[in-house]
Amino acid sequence: MIAVKAYAAKTAGAPLEPFSVARREPGERDVLIEIAYCGICHSDIHQARQEWGPASFPMVPGHEIAGRVARVGSKVRRFKPDDWVGVGCFVDSCRTCASCRSGHQQFCRTGVTYTYNSLEQDRRTPTFGGYSTAIVVDEDYVLKLPPRLPPERLAPLFCAGVTTYAPLKRWGARRGRRLGVVGLGGLGHMAVKIGAALGAEVSVVSRSRAKAADAKRLGAADFFAAGEGASAKALRGHFDLLIDTVSAVHDVGAELSWLKPEGTLILVGLPPRPLQVEPFPLVGFQRVLAGSNIGGVAETQEMLDFCARNKISADVEVIPVERVNEAYERAIRGDVRFRFVIDASSLR
Ligand code: NAP
Ligand code: ZN
Ligand code: ZN
Repeated sequence: MIAVKAYAAKTAGAPLEPFSVARREPGERDVLIEIAYCGICHSDIHQARQEWGPASFPMVPGHEIAGRVARVGSKVRRFKPDDWVGVGCFVDSCRTCASCRSGHQQFCRTGVTYTYNSLEQDRRTPTFGGYSTAIVVDEDYVLKLPPRLPPERLAPLFCAGVTTYAPLKRWGARRGRRLGVVGLGGLGHMAVKIGAALGAEVSVVSRSRAKAADAKRLGAADFFAAGEGASAKALRGHFDLLIDTVSAVHDVGAELSWLKPEGTLILVGLPPRPLQVEPFPLVGFQRVLAGSNIGGVAETQEMLDFCARNKISADVEVIPVERVNEAYERAIRGDVRFRFVIDASSLR
């Protein structure tokens, strides 16, 4: 076993604190990655606070990992020491079910192995995430970082990037279509950049005007403060496509009315309690309410290639690990531009 320094929530909702994790010795298909950076996704906060139901503690969150290959197993072909690589939300799956074979590992029939708060495919060994100095991952679940972009800005692509790229592509964000991004946080700011690069006319819908200038800088053509009376009128029937990245319970029903007839609302935000939807705005205009869950390995590679071609990376605030609890509080307040990323050297 390899002892690794980490930060963990020992119990649900406890502040994160120093912890030690034992990683397996790399097997013949494994890659030992020395972690350089790990993004802080709001899903980390939901899980560390057990907002999505029973979770496993101690928990080392983190699924936006960028680092360098330290060592590879004898059968690893795609990576060599010193390569810059990334790991996202899952580290294994059964590989044989229809979902795994079609590249949608996140829907694995027998259960995907998430990067943390999950069990390995042996169904016994708990997984621990990227708020740590190193991780061991099967090469099939590791991806190369695109060259010439700073790794701290690439780490968030492994969740926020693919979670927005995959549904925007699937639901046709493109030239001639109006896309609304609801919530301008980690996922939201990636949706703006990616949506604009796909050719869509992007607007941001935020709670206040505080992020208006940022939205424009990120590539949005228009901005709406949801709470303002004037916005309510302007938003009605306005969009072909909406992507909702809001982390807290909010009024999705109102968002449906912002769509043109037959428009689609893609929900990616995962608030911890049920959301209410009135049937009339949905049925009356034949609108679509869709969900989207991260992306498979092939989609993640496609997203990385797309971001490399379009020079897209995340806007980040790099922090030492000691500031993780403060970062959680700030993320909950919406006070982040636009992703906190832990510098893993602060753990060593
Ligand atoms: P984040 O950086 O904290 O951003 C969330 C944004 O939601 C905030 O910036 C804020 O935008 C808005 N918001 C927060 N509280 C709100 C409230 N009470 N009412 C209205 N708007 C509010 O979070 P994130 O990392 O982007 O994650 C967003 C959500 O997506 C989380 O629930 C996360 O678990 C989920 N997620 C889902 C997937 C998936 O596969 N579907 C993957 C990753 C994350 P404004 O300040 O602009 O209003
Ligand atoms: Zn995430
Ligand atoms: Zn499977």
